[in-house]
Amino acid sequence: MIKRKNKGDLIVISGPSGCGKDTICYKLFEIRENLVKSISLTTRTKRDYEIDGKDYYFVSEEEFQNKIKNGDLLEYAIVHQKDYYGTPKDKIFDILKQGKDVILIIDIQGALKVKEKYPEAIFIFILPPSISELKKRLIKRNTDNKEALVRRFKSIYKEINEINKYNYVVVNDNLDDAVYKTNAIIESQKLRVDRIEEFDLDSIEEEIHEALIDL
Ligand code: ADP
Repeated sequence: MIKRKNKGDLIVISGPSGCGKDTICYKLFEIRENLVKSISLTTRTKRDYEIDGKDYYFVSEEEFQNKIKNGDLLEYAIVHQKDYYGTPKDKIFDILKQGKDVILIIDIQGALKVKEKYPEAIFIFILPPSISELKKRLIKRNTDNKEALVRRFKSIYKEINEINKYNYVVVNDNLDDAVYKTNAIIESQKLRVDRIEEFDLDSIEEEIHEALIDL
């Protein structure tokens, strides 16, 4: 009766560092088929353990500049005034066309730029249950020195202040619950009325006639 468009969704995930973006997405990759992580382009030097095309696409500054010039990036940023990072448009659009969904974990500034170029993306903001819980998790994660932690905490207010630019907000208190809700958001996109490609009203009319015959 209904045929839906075979088009993937771009799911943009933001939230303060330590709110659980990576953890939630890791779980989503386990439970969702056809979900692909967006791989960024960067001009920074590859670390020994990194794999080109898996962790990043490592490119020269010249290649990166060309991509900017040709409009090949959904967004880009210069980090520490030297390294370029960007989101490749063609790669993401190819995957979406195949009917697969793409997850893009990105900071708020990047997400807003993506929104300008691709407003039909789904923007999800992840919140920690409280700032004190976020602090506990970041200290436990033990990936940041004190200076980095202070920097992260100082930017939280500004980040959360942009929450109304997003479509959905998920509080990551209980992890399973946050994964369930994020998955439900993705799943619900498939059921939207604007995803209907064909709706066979004629056959419904026929069936209504048939149903009426022996009533
Ligand atoms: P982000 O990617 O947003 O920076 P992470 O996914 O690295 O955050 O999560 C930060 C830390 O919090 C990690 O050590 C992770 O294991 C932990 N964590 C994530 N979600 C939860 C949760 N719901 N309950 C407890 N700890 C969590």
